[in-house]
Amino acid sequence: METEESILKRQIVRSMKILHRRGLMTGVGGNASVRMEGSGEVWITPSGVYKPELKPSDLVKIDLDGRVIEGILKPSMEWHFHTAIYRRRADINAVLHTHSPFSTGLALADVKLRPITLEAATMLADVPILPFRYPGTEELGRQVGEAILGRRALILQNHGVIAVGFDMIEALSTIEILEEVSIMTFIASQYGEIQEIPPDQIELIKKLYRI
Ligand SMILES: [Zn+2]
Repeated sequence: METEESILKRQIVRSMKILHRRGLMTGVGGNASVRMEGSGEVWITPSGVYKPELKPSDLVKIDLDGRVIEGILKPSMEWHFHTAIYRRRADINAVLHTHSPFSTGLALADVKLRPITLEAATMLADVPILPFRYPGTEELGRQVGEAILGRRALILQNHGVIAVGFDMIEALSTIEILEEVSIMTFIASQYGEIQEIPPDQIELIKKLYRI
């Protein structure tokens, strides 16, 4: 029987293939991790591997200080923000990072997402745009660790996006919804004023979803 650990590793590999196929990241421009629920052990993508060709055996197991526990390759240079998220959020077991072109592109012009769909009004009600920090640094890790509290997605200006979830499916969905809402926002902005869901309806949605 397949162990829980090997299922999680396959989920990482699959998520990278899906996101690459959808044009949300280049072969070397994204990364992913999962935490073994309730533990301080994280499986993360390696650096320097073309992600659509990633295999479960390429993944690296690290602790929350970035020390390699298992695996032969080097962990993603972005392990700082992955582990910073797991340290601050006991409810999170999956982290994804992509360079989604529409989500990142709108943020370059400081365009904030507005409640234009049900998902935008609920899941993406609060997606901050964080000022540029150099990739792979401890400082970026600190910035992300602070900003992720109470949120499920962040945008790193001049860089990309981060989405988190209780599991990989939740994190994947958030990346997809974020890009979908960004594309809709971009299209609408070509033609005029963007119509939001009316405020009374948003109040209703918030009551229904208890947010
Ligand atoms: Zn990146």
